[in-house]
Amino acid sequence: MIIPKANKLDPNQISEIEKIAADFDCSILEIQGRNRCVYAILGDEGREVMFKRIAGLSFISKVDMIESPYKLMDRRSGLSDHRVRVGKTEVGKDKPFIIAGPCTIDPANPNFYLESAHALKEAGVDALRGGVWKPRTNPYSFQGDNHSLSIILQAREETGLPIDIEVMDSTQLKLALEAKVDVVQVGTRNAQNYCLLKEIGQLTAGSDTAVLLKRGRHMASPNEFIASAEYLVAEGNPNVMLCPRGTTPPLDGYRNHPDESITPLLKNRTWAPVVVDPSHSVGHADFVPACSLAAIAYGADGLCIESHIEPAKGIGDDPKQAILPEKVKDLVSACNEVWKNRYLP
Ligand code: PEP
Ligand code: MN
Repeated sequence: MIIPKANKLDPNQISEIEKIAADFDCSILEIQGRNRCVYAILGDEGREVMFKRIAGLSFISKVDMIESPYKLMDRRSGLSDHRVRVGKTEVGKDKPFIIAGPCTIDPANPNFYLESAHALKEAGVDALRGGVWKPRTNPYSFQGDNHSLSIILQAREETGLPIDIEVMDSTQLKLALEAKVDVVQVGTRNAQNYCLLKEIGQLTAGSDTAVLLKRGRHMASPNEFIASAEYLVAEGNPNVMLCPRGTTPPLDGYRNHPDESITPLLKNRTWAPVVVDPSHSVGHADFVPACSLAAIAYGADGLCIESHIEPAKGIGDDPKQAILPEKVKDLVSACNEVWKNRYLP
């Protein structure tokens, strides 16, 4: 990774390092961090001569060779001071960053979504979630609807809150980006869909769009999860939030095996914020508050919670795991208290 002396290299300087890299069959990728740009060397970067030639240029501060399977996501990388923002808020700066909303937007009853959104704004959340397109295990279950996109856009317009929606393919991604969604969510099922991750990274490179990357259900090691995030950053978008959401096999009685305890391991290895999803982790509304508090105690920077004004009338996961917006309000203040007293290594 190349760290310039100035915040950014000019085009002549970039072409100078590109020429050196080309001599070694490598190329250069600019990654726009919040405060400055860093430049990744793509290709076999373990060439000492190339490093020395680049490091010797007058406008280069240093060239780091990070021995890590995820050299950009690594805590020691030049992106270590990168901070992820959603809308105007820096994730995990002064208090937990709370994303909340129904699992699935019901296109036949837009008011459920809109009223939930207003109640959640009142509850003090930072962003709204809502499923427009849904990854459903059963092909006969409701799969989502393009019309729901206009409903969540209306909610953003009315509340002023940023929005998070999941995309599963290229077509959905393009529609979401045309609508300028603030957060693109990659679900647990696509957490290792490297083609999709690359495409998201490419199409959001250099933009303010953030990506909420869920942990794959079968992902055992933290490194596997971080490596998925590396795909996004390596294509040019460092605005990545890591989202543990429970793994399989489930703990008997829960929907998944709660994994908020992975947070210190992730934070020890990477600079990326961790936003835990307690709803899919435990899968039952009654257990969501305890899981949320545990996540904050473990050092999470935020939460992504399913909430609906009338869970029983919701579709998708809402009837079993959504909590009421007034519960979210109580939870926000309880989480803020835990945040103040949490122990960070
Ligand atoms: C969701 O957020 O509604 C969802 C389907 O999440 P996951 O991919 O974690 O199952
Ligand atoms: Mn859901």
